[in-house]
Amino acid sequence: MGSGPAEQEDHARRATARLDAEGVRTIALTWVDNAGIVRVKTVPTPRLAQVVHSGVGMSPIFDVYTSDDIVAASAHLGGPDGDLRLFPDLDRLTVLAAQPGWAWAPVDRYDQLGTPHPACQRQFARRMADRAAAEGLEMRMGFETEWVVVRDPAAVAPGGFAGAGGVGGPAWPDGTGGAAVPGSSEVLHYPCAGPAYGMTRVVELSDYLRDVAEALAVQGIEVLQLHPEYSPGQFEISTAPADPVRAADDLVLVRETIRAVSQRHGLRACFAPTAVAGQVGNGCHLHLSLRREGRSLHRDPDARWGLAPDAVRFLGGILDSLPALLAVGAPSPASYLRLVPSQWAGAYRCWGVENREAALRLVTGSPADPEGGNAEIKCFDAAANPYLLIGTVIAAGLHGITSGGQLPPPVTGDPGALGVRERARRGITRLPVSLTEAADHLEGAAPLLEALGEVLYGAVMAVRRAEAAQFAESDPEEITAAFRWRY
Ligand code: GLU
Ligand code: MG
Repeated sequence: MGSGPAEQEDHARRATARLDAEGVRTIALTWVDNAGIVRVKTVPTPRLAQVVHSGVGMSPIFDVYTSDDIVAASAHLGGPDGDLRLFPDLDRLTVLAAQPGWAWAPVDRYDQLGTPHPACQRQFARRMADRAAAEGLEMRMGFETEWVVVRDPAAVAPGGFAGAGGVGGPAWPDGTGGAAVPGSSEVLHYPCAGPAYGMTRVVELSDYLRDVAEALAVQGIEVLQLHPEYSPGQFEISTAPADPVRAADDLVLVRETIRAVSQRHGLRACFAPTAVAGQVGNGCHLHLSLRREGRSLHRDPDARWGLAPDAVRFLGGILDSLPALLAVGAPSPASYLRLVPSQWAGAYRCWGVENREAALRLVTGSPADPEGGNAEIKCFDAAANPYLLIGTVIAAGLHGITSGGQLPPPVTGDPGALGVRERARRGITRLPVSLTEAADHLEGAAPLLEALGEVLYGAVMAVRRAEAAQFAESDPEEITAAFRWRY
């Protein structure tokens, strides 16, 4: 909650006046559950000052909800009892460009006495960022968002397009151009036909993509790049690095904005790890960079790859923990359909300099840029709770610093193309191939368990085990269909 209650209420009153003037009637207060679902309570704008004072009630049970709303009880959380208070972060209060009359703010969760909820993922992330700061490390993070866009059948009325305000172009010619999804009755109609990374796709969807970029700009999100990706209908947006909690907030805002703009164009955005089983999926890569006393630890003139010793240890800690981190960063049964070799998803535990097949890619950037250089963790996807993810990644990195983490020699080329024996010789292992395997690794990862704490860890694990069990017998098409529109 940061500043004191009086300042908060004053801040809320000023914010209410501004929102009123902008015609904002309702505020969406979001947090992300352990299954990766953005959960919400909304309040009328005039209630904001009261909400900042006493919060908004919400049951703690959602901490053990699976992504399809089944309750998976843990030792600490589960039943119908209890209430938490949601407190919006007014520093992130944002008028939503693609939802007229709406604003948004992320929340922190407390109990009724004002004690932080031990399973509040956002406060966990902040605690870990504070731990890094206490070690003198300044961290910057940023997520990439990939999504597949298709025409929304619900937006097409017989005889024409029924999207909001008639924007977004003509209806698709019925019965043509749709791609039947193998093993499912669903037909995906892509609104663009151009090739991967092709300008054709940008021309085909120029109004839509402009509106995505415009909405984000108006909301104060700095876009670094927006481009067509590999799979049909797939795009990617990357945003400017920020402090870790802000980066996680930004990811939520970016995704919900893309969803809203898509809908206004009669389109539907799929962020799930796989839109179509067997095709290249949607990643949600995490970039991070480290500084100490204002100097980049990726630009050490005396060090190999420019990596200062603490950066090596930090990245070594992350590389070491990747199998366990997958239970946080690739938390869905669908994640393991995406995480396959030779699709730039980072299916092998190894690192490489600008190697897009390595789970950990060192991005050197232009040597002329003193600020440049970061590391990209590629094996994560958008089913992840971004707050849990940044918190556990920081915990793994800090453990690397205290335990003398190391980086083995970097890998060049596709590790999937090496023979089994060569991979074994170089210590390159395949990352977990199932949610169960990843959850088993998390169970054995003491530094991550210590960081998460018993209550949050127990809830995460209950959700992982429940989703793994639910889909244990399902084939890739069934899993893809179940998760396609979930995140
Ligand atoms: N779509 C790929 C993934 O699943 C990533 C492609 C890229 O390197 O941007 O992660
Ligand atoms: Mg990409």
